[in-house]
Amino acid sequence: MIATNLENRNGKLFFARTDTAELIRAFGSPLYVMDEGRIRANMRIYRDSMAAGFGGGAMPLYASKALSFKRIYEIAREEGIGIDVVSQGEIHTAERAGFPMEKAYFHSNNKTDEDIAYAMDKGVGYFVADCGEEVDAVEKEAARRGMRQKILLRLTPGIDPHTYEAVSTGKVDSKFGSAIETGQAEAITEKALGCPHIELAGFHCHVGSQVFVSDVYMRAARVMLTFIKNMKDRHGYAASELDLGGGYGVRYTEADPVIDIAKQIGSLSAFMKELCGELGIALPSVRLEPGRSIVADAGLTLYRVGSVKRIPGYKNYVSVDGGMTDNPRYALYRSRYTVLAAEKLDEKETFVCSVVGRCCESGDIIQENVSLPASIARNDILAVLTTGAYNYAMASNYNRICRLPVVMIKDGSPYVAVRRETPDDLIRNDL
Ligand SMILES: *Cc1c(COP(=O)(O)O)cnc(C)c1O
Repeated sequence: MIATNLENRNGKLFFARTDTAELIRAFGSPLYVMDEGRIRANMRIYRDSMAAGFGGGAMPLYASKALSFKRIYEIAREEGIGIDVVSQGEIHTAERAGFPMEKAYFHSNNKTDEDIAYAMDKGVGYFVADCGEEVDAVEKEAARRGMRQKILLRLTPGIDPHTYEAVSTGKVDSKFGSAIETGQAEAITEKALGCPHIELAGFHCHVGSQVFVSDVYMRAARVMLTFIKNMKDRHGYAASELDLGGGYGVRYTEADPVIDIAKQIGSLSAFMKELCGELGIALPSVRLEPGRSIVADAGLTLYRVGSVKRIPGYKNYVSVDGGMTDNPRYALYRSRYTVLAAEKLDEKETFVCSVVGRCCESGDIIQENVSLPASIARNDILAVLTTGAYNYAMASNYNRICRLPVVMIKDGSPYVAVRRETPDDLIRNDL
């Protein structure tokens, strides 16, 4: 099994010590299931290893775009970590969950004036400003309110996380952030320092997602800490926070490596402390922004099989009662997932097929080249593993399909965290 919260008990798939077939019988199909204990454990790994490595001022921020609903923000609050938010909707959800908004960091490469005013109304602690225009817009709104807004500046350090090389232009060419290499990063630093209603707390970068190469964060940290030193030398500005973004990879299939995040953070912090010594600067308060690695392996999706189609000499199709409306990631980027027949784990997987959804779209595919038991048939249960990140968050109502509920399991007991949508929910805004 690809994660430790999965078990095969007499051929049946148990998740978070719960029989998945029982869950689908109790809560209906299809269904997202989340393991609350795993979410908390993942948050604690970041929280505790960052505190141990970087000191008490360090804090993980849960990148809530990966999975956003009220209960998640309650859990983040209880675990004492911060959050990233990227829209009025995420801010609203977090606020209604009672999240302390001074620990919220507002991202997005294009915050409208309305977004900025909304976030200030809600007391969002930090804005992560993407470029000079955004610094101006935040300054203007903060001035109008007679307040001082804390910000980080989002910079592009020029690192491609997947090529194992520092690239001089590749990742500078991004819709996000301001490039160090072009001098734009320094220019917006000067601009922010000159704004009376802005408190520049430090800098941010995010090199990518599904990162397994261990020194990516070290290379990013080296570029960012060197920039911090240069700003200190040239402008007398000592950054107090450095946010290195998210992106640690997770296991979708057996082919993905296992990464030990506590160990990674341990070596990253040792590297950064030494480098700060060499550069003659104080270690800033470090932030990391894990999204996927907090929630992905804490989730799976359960479906019922519909038709099983064998096209002799061509292909086999197994249709399920969900699809790209609950998991668009294969359609979007050919993402790999592990698919299991939840009550037939002990049968040989000899039937190679495409698992497809119910939407009117040929691209509505959950996964291709899946091996399932040859006995797979209507009403069997399929489990797609590691769907906790970017599935519910990206779900749609295409074909007017209702979104699935999210059932959480806490200490072996399931509860509904998000209820199943109904057709009436779909017409709520129709006039
Ligand atoms: C998407 C994103 C994250 C989270 O990335 P994961 O791969 O889910 O960990 C963090 N920070 C920023 C700025 C992002 O855009």
